[in-house]
Amino acid sequence: MTEHGKTPVTVLGLGAMGTALVEALLAAGHPVTAWNRTPGRAEGVAAKGASVASTVSEALAANKIVIACLLDYDSVHEVLDPVAAGLEGRQLINLTNGTPGQAREMSAWAGQLGAEYLDGGIMAIPPMIGTPAAFIFYSGSGSVLAHARSALDTFGGVKYLGVDPGLAPLHDIALLSGMYGNFMGVIQAFALVGSAGVKAREFAPLLRDWLAAMGGFLDRAAEQIDDGDYVTGVVSNIAMQAGAYPNLLKAAEEQGISAELLTPLQPLMDKRVAAGHGAEDLIGVIELLKK
Ligand code: NDP
Repeated sequence: MTEHGKTPVTVLGLGAMGTALVEALLAAGHPVTAWNRTPGRAEGVAAKGASVASTVSEALAANKIVIACLLDYDSVHEVLDPVAAGLEGRQLINLTNGTPGQAREMSAWAGQLGAEYLDGGIMAIPPMIGTPAAFIFYSGSGSVLAHARSALDTFGGVKYLGVDPGLAPLHDIALLSGMYGNFMGVIQAFALVGSAGVKAREFAPLLRDWLAAMGGFLDRAAEQIDDGDYVTGVVSNIAMQAGAYPNLLKAAEEQGISAELLTPLQPLMDKRVAAGHGAEDLIGVIELLKK
């Protein structure tokens, strides 16, 4: 800690996200040592008060807390492997997007080098960092979280999920899966009406209201999954939906657009119905995803 009680932090990576993290730390008064592979990208944060390290070793030596925010886990290894001995005694917080398996591997690797490890999944885009709209999932070392807490609080909400380092990326990827599924439907809907010359701006309010009206699906699905009961109170059974779904694919074809974003669901629905589950809700398809 500095005389002002602000924890000093090293940040590796000054892309769009790393820069936003450094700016949030600086704005809150935390001393920051920053490093980036391409040195020119450090000029902006240097002007705002960050110390710029010219080598990774120098950046590791500067502070106990080291935050990595690079493109992917391979790039984190590429940066840290050659200077791995410098991680001893450090608290490595990896906010790079990755998978649960990659986080567990990196945690074990860091542990062998004498470093404590905390993984993080950033649920925000760079302009949201430092605002109440941002939050970050964390998992791994609770003592790293406690020591770095005042610094991490500057980024946004802190959601700690437990000691298994894979839990943060697991939740991160799960939210992104939901988001991309939503995006796929939205893209398809705009393409479909667009094929008939309907302006996207004109259609958007209809789509927004419809998605909001269907939002109740999520909580209902959660109850059905936890209770293992996909049948009670069903009003739109999967046999009916599997019968109507081909119209989504056929309409796309008629309009001369691809249905490839939609096609994977049809065989899963058909399989569930064929297995005798036609009276269930759509969410019963989740059983087919379990390998
Ligand atoms: P950018 O593409 O803006 O920056 C990538 C960073 O990684 C740069 O600092 C780049 O250095 C560095 N880098 C890439 N490859 C290597 C390498 N082999 N060795 C050393 N450094 C390397 O990405 P962001 O900053 O936006 O994203 C960083 C992380 O944050 C990613 O994992 C991303 O998924 C995650 N994230 C990003 C969000 C966003 O909206 N931007 C949202 C949530 C998470 P150089 O400048 O030298 O190229």
